[in-house]
Amino acid sequence: MAADQPTVLVVEDEAAQREVLTYNLEAEGFRVTRAENGEEALVLIDEESPDIIVLDWMLPNVSGIEVCRQIKTRPETRSVPIIMLSARSEEVDRVRGLETGADDYVVKPYSVIELMARVRAQLRRARPAAAGLRLEYEDIVLDSETHRVTRGSKPLKLGPTEFRLLTTFMEKPGRVWSREQLLDRVWGRDIYVDTRTVDVHIGRLRKALCQHGGNDPLRTVRGAGYALG
Ligand code: CA
Repeated sequence: MAADQPTVLVVEDEAAQREVLTYNLEAEGFRVTRAENGEEALVLIDEESPDIIVLDWMLPNVSGIEVCRQIKTRPETRSVPIIMLSARSEEVDRVRGLETGADDYVVKPYSVIELMARVRAQLRRARPAAAGLRLEYEDIVLDSETHRVTRGSKPLKLGPTEFRLLTTFMEKPGRVWSREQLLDRVWGRDIYVDTRTVDVHIGRLRKALCQHGGNDPLRTVRGAGYALG
């Protein structure tokens, strides 16, 4: 599995629906994590930090709307886009009316092609580099398609790990990443790497970013991790 592969959390109690969604999302290049109910979904959001959530309205016990409301209330999860699935268009109207904060709505039975297009649209917002877009931060420009990075229009030489680190930072300027979160995102969850390795590569990235001069845009946040700006 690619370390920086975007993750979708599918919350759906019907096994067949869950399988269809998983199959199609995996075919689109996503890593898929699945929950059968709202309680499980809320736990998985913390454990897996998904990039996008596809959430069914009709769930046993805690409804999709309640799950949505909880995700959008917590500052740590508020920015994760949610695509809500519902059985009837009247429900969609109600979701809108309730202002639960869902980012998009799809009525069941949905067309898989349409749903995948909606997921990709949310990905462009949530993980612009994973969607192949160009990222800019001050005078630094990162092209995720060509893997080229420039600063003040001068090309920068970066190793592959430093490139993935910079991509992670540039997707969310200002966000503080812990060493563990950077390990999961840049190195992958299944690989054992010492957290000190992160510090080594941050050092290399800082050096690379200043290879033609300029100030160090990376900030060390004591006891928390690193941030861009
Ligand atoms: Ca359901």
